[in-house]
Amino acid sequence: MTVNLLDYDLESLAAFCERLGEKRFRAVQLFRWIHQRGCAHFDDMSDLAKSLREKLKGVAYVKALDVVSQHISADGTIKWLFDVGGGNAVETVFIPEDDRGTLCVSSQAGCAMGCRFCSTGHQGFSRNLTTGEIVAQLWFAEHFLRRHLQRDERIISNVVMMGMGEPLQNYAALIPALRIMLDDHGYGLSRRRVTVSTSGVIPKMDMLGQDCPVALAVSLHAPNNALRDHLVPLNIKYPLEELLPACRRYLTHAPRDFLTFEYCMLDGVNDQAEHAHEIVQMVQKYSSAPWCKFNLIPFNPFPASGLLRSPQKRVLEFAQILNGAGITTTIRKTRGDDIDAACGQLAGDVKDRTKVGERMARQRTIAIKPVDRHVENVTKI
Ligand code: SAH
Ligand code: SF4
Repeated sequence: MTVNLLDYDLESLAAFCERLGEKRFRAVQLFRWIHQRGCAHFDDMSDLAKSLREKLKGVAYVKALDVVSQHISADGTIKWLFDVGGGNAVETVFIPEDDRGTLCVSSQAGCAMGCRFCSTGHQGFSRNLTTGEIVAQLWFAEHFLRRHLQRDERIISNVVMMGMGEPLQNYAALIPALRIMLDDHGYGLSRRRVTVSTSGVIPKMDMLGQDCPVALAVSLHAPNNALRDHLVPLNIKYPLEELLPACRRYLTHAPRDFLTFEYCMLDGVNDQAEHAHEIVQMVQKYSSAPWCKFNLIPFNPFPASGLLRSPQKRVLEFAQILNGAGITTTIRKTRGDDIDAACGQLAGDVKDRTKVGERMARQRTIAIKPVDRHVENVTKI
């Protein structure tokens, strides 16, 4: 049986090399070829012995995901739709900013959590991605961008696990993927610049703190259980009085001294001044010293949700109340609006297999082609 080496963190790759009768240090060379240089062909790995290259060809391969489509926004945001087989697709979004390049990565095809305001949640769960499929999104994006920008240095400085799926419900595949991202022989990303976003899977938050304490963002969306039960059904299992202490526990491991709460602003649902005051009380109950930040997310509407985006004025007022109480609050800038790259709009058709199949068939023929035309957009990064 042949294996995809994108599935292996350095430790597993070393064990794999040992099984092949090779010294462990060969794994470092191989890992660097794959992740740092984006090399998928053993023949091109010139400092590996020819005998090893031949051996590898018989037992392993390096394969990313097939690109179904690629869209480049006027603001430089790039969205890829990747085929993960069986009629499933996942999306990955690159967001260039002046001081960083952020990649938004998917962890599952679909999601079982069923959050009311999330189109992925509305589609339901298809399957967990493998470590290789999670890593492939970064591998492809990083090396694609380097080639097209003709730059040797690293382009993606930040990864946020905020694409499709609940990363902590795919824990076994997530941890090796995070290790590959952090590894100095891999992508060498700082723990502070890799963020796992969760709807609040408490036991796994505790495990993450032990196993791989990267930055954590918790999707809060409501200041009380009654409202959160409705918006984020996982709250029925892990209510706020358990979630908030779990967030505090995470801080003892976290690479930053604060945690981020995400809060999607829904018109007339969770965006009133009284909700903001309730948040202040809730947060201060756990510590009067600042320990969290809020990121208010403008809701990206989709018809089946029956929900609307809060008016900007109300979002500003909401932020003002939190900031006034000493809770640093930012409002997320929407990016890639013209290509539907925003949160909650990812791979809208995943559950509808026929539709995805058709869309893939339609788009495969045009896949990648638009890139060359848009290289100027990319070079603005
Ligand atoms: N499952 C994880 C990570 C993926 S969702 C989580 O829930 O945290 C990433 C972020 O996008 C979450 O904060 C989520 O609440 C938000 N989101 C989902 N749908 C959205 C929508 N339609 N508009 C704005 N934000 C949305
Ligand atoms: Fe899943 Fe996150 Fe969407 Fe909720 S918001 S359904 S947890 S992807």
